[in-house]
Parts: sequence; structure tokens; C-alpha cells
Amino acid sequence: MWEYSGRIKNWIRECCEDNGCGHLAESIRFVWNKRFQSKAADARPTQKLIRISVVNWKASTEEQKEQTVKHETCHIISYYRYGDISLGHGRHWQTAMIRAGCDPDRFVEIDLNKIVSYIKAICPSCQKIFFISRTKARRIKYHGKVYKCQKCNVGVTLL
Ligand SMILES: [Zn+2]
Ligand SMILES: [Zn+2]
Repeated sequence: MWEYSGRIKNWIRECCEDNGCGHLAESIRFVWNKRFQSKAADARPTQKLIRISVVNWKASTEEQKEQTVKHETCHIISYYRYGDISLGHGRHWQTAMIRAGCDPDRFVEIDLNKIVSYIKAICPSCQKIFFISRTKARRIKYHGKVYKCQKCNVGVTLL
């Protein structure tokens, strides 16, 4: 599983940078967990530790792996920012996910249109609107990076 270390660290760093706390990335650690069967991963925000299920990881696509790592990183980021009130999948965690360019994939409690610092992008296939960070928008525009709509598997275009 060592071959994944670099990519996992990159995703953690990207997620922290997109949330404006790049320095936090250095202190976040991850470990493999051989016992998790039903859950993909979890986070221990007070220890800045992410535990990833080996079983789930092997069965996941690249997109799902990135989503898993960023989901847990966002728990740590929101805890670091807001403490105990940020635990769970409420608005603090959701905001961090959207900043990281990830779909919170839950009932969204926040008004996305109020997050003015984000750029809108659209899936050319299903027309779903995505809110992405300026960092991600720059990567699309200037570095040809592709961020896919997970449902359609096609790259989103900036609006
Ligand atoms: Zn979670
Ligand atoms: Zn789509």
C-alpha cells in the first residue's frame, strides 16, 4: 500500500490549500486500518489522524479514493477551525468540502450562492452545477487539469 502514500499526502495538501490552511497538511497523518469493513475511513480530528480501510481502498476507483481522503481531511480542517461544534457532516464540514471542490454528497445546509469566492462550473452532460475553488478553476484554465462529474465521468467546464 506504500505506493499510495504520495498521492494521499498530495490530496491532503490540496484539500488544505483549497481551504486556505496549507500549513495544516504537514501535521495530518494517515494510517491503514485492516478491520474496517463497512466504512471507507474515519478521522480523529483531535489527533489529526485519518484511518483508511484497506478493504475499501482496494475496491475503490481513483475518484472515490480522492473523495475518501478529502472527506476525512475536511473533518480535521473544520475541527481545527471551529472545534467541537464542527463535528459531523453539518455546515462547517460541508463548507470545507465545497472549498476542496468535493461534492458533500449529503443534504446541503449552506446556501452555496453565498459562497461568492467560488467559481461555478457545469457538467456538460447532466448540467449539474459545481462550486469549485479558485485554485481548482486555475488548474482547469491554465494547466489543463480535468475535474470530473462523478455521475457522468466527464470533465466539468467553467462558467
Ligand atoms: Zn464523515
Ligand atoms: Zn454530470
